[in-house]
Amino acid sequence: MKFYSTNNTDTRVSFKEAVFNSMPQDRGLYMPATIPRLDDKFLNNLDGYTLPEIAFHVAKNLLEDDIPAEDLKAIIHDAINFYAPVVGLEESVFVLELFHGPSLAFKDFGARFMSRVMSYFLEDGEKQLDVLVATSGDTGGAVALGFLGVPNTRVTILYPKGKVSGIQELQLTTNGQNIRAIEVDGTFDDCQALVKQAFTDPELNAKFRLTSANSINIARLIPQTFYYFNAYAQMLKQGRDKVVFSVPSGNFGNIGAGLLAWKMGLPVTQFIAATNANDTVPEFLKTGVYQPKPSVQTISNAMDVGNPSNWVRIADMFKDDADKLSELIIGFSYNDEETLAAVEKIYSSYHYVACPHTAIAWQALKDWQQDQPTGRASGVFLSTAHPCKFPDVLPGHVAKAIEIPGEVQELEGKTKQAASLGVDFEGFKNWLLKNE
Ligand SMILES: *Cc1c(COP(=O)(O)O)cnc(C)c1O
Repeated sequence: MKFYSTNNTDTRVSFKEAVFNSMPQDRGLYMPATIPRLDDKFLNNLDGYTLPEIAFHVAKNLLEDDIPAEDLKAIIHDAINFYAPVVGLEESVFVLELFHGPSLAFKDFGARFMSRVMSYFLEDGEKQLDVLVATSGDTGGAVALGFLGVPNTRVTILYPKGKVSGIQELQLTTNGQNIRAIEVDGTFDDCQALVKQAFTDPELNAKFRLTSANSINIARLIPQTFYYFNAYAQMLKQGRDKVVFSVPSGNFGNIGAGLLAWKMGLPVTQFIAATNANDTVPEFLKTGVYQPKPSVQTISNAMDVGNPSNWVRIADMFKDDADKLSELIIGFSYNDEETLAAVEKIYSSYHYVACPHTAIAWQALKDWQQDQPTGRASGVFLSTAHPCKFPDVLPGHVAKAIEIPGEVQELEGKTKQAASLGVDFEGFKNWLLKNE
């Protein structure tokens, strides 16, 4: 498969180039030059396949020219080694739990696949790969744990000071080995701006082999399609073939992957884009005006994005069919008070503890279902992180009900190691040069 830039659809690069460049020179984003439609035999029998089998079939259709089938299979079996179960909470309301990977967030799918693809493409004797990543919390943990100990790679993580949870910060800053963390006195958008500028800086590019691990990397997007197919397969097993997905959205990589799955033939009838107060996309879907805004801080901080990077990919997928886009996606946004009310309601209704991001997706699904004829589509909302990553923002009695996984208990004895920087690019650049 060749990939083009959303800013110049005549360009063609290999998967390897797209993965290592991360972002084209023209500052667009890479997309597959053609999106293959999967065969009907596969689509109609999804319920007969396991998650790794589904992942392999989907990936093969996109990447078989780039990675031989047996190697691709090995990468997938190594990367996707945890479950993504769909759990029923009430009639027509299901949660897709995407937090069973090592960093306890859905970003493990993208980060683990990408790190293995990069390591696969790195040939002996090549310059060390320097991964720069801006995180509002969960990306950094997933990338750190995804790359930890991978030879010939180094990861530098930038996170906004005081804006990630205690457990997230420990996941970012206690790894050592080939992982470095920088706390930036600013917002996630500031961190992202620093990383973006580094990629266009000639001096840094001459010195380091830079690459990004943000959700803009195409190798992060592709594996996120796997769990949509697999969730649909689990619904089919229960005789449910009409499915809507509600996706808690920030940078719009997760829902972008869902739409890519739809393009490949997954017969989903509706996607719900659920955001916090950073409502650029829901506003666009309502008014037709795309107006990026500075991000505002919320209790669902992994979604505090005012100008979602991946939106250009979604726009690209639907550039010939804008009507279909507005039919397929509907947006909802909630403030912090509404988010907390949703967390409470989920707990009191089902004795289920949801993280604030997940609660937003649940609320959006419920609000959407209210206006629908009953007994039609089954709603699946995506749970993007384990609630133990956000204990401080949950109401006390809900937080108390969280079951803390063993790997988190181990983190608590470790010491934070991070550099502290401001938001100016020169400071960041100097730090990189000094700590080469
Ligand atoms: C990253 C993240 C999101 C947002 O996903 P996008 O792909 O950026 O839209 C939502 N919830 C959690 C917990 C996250 O870590």
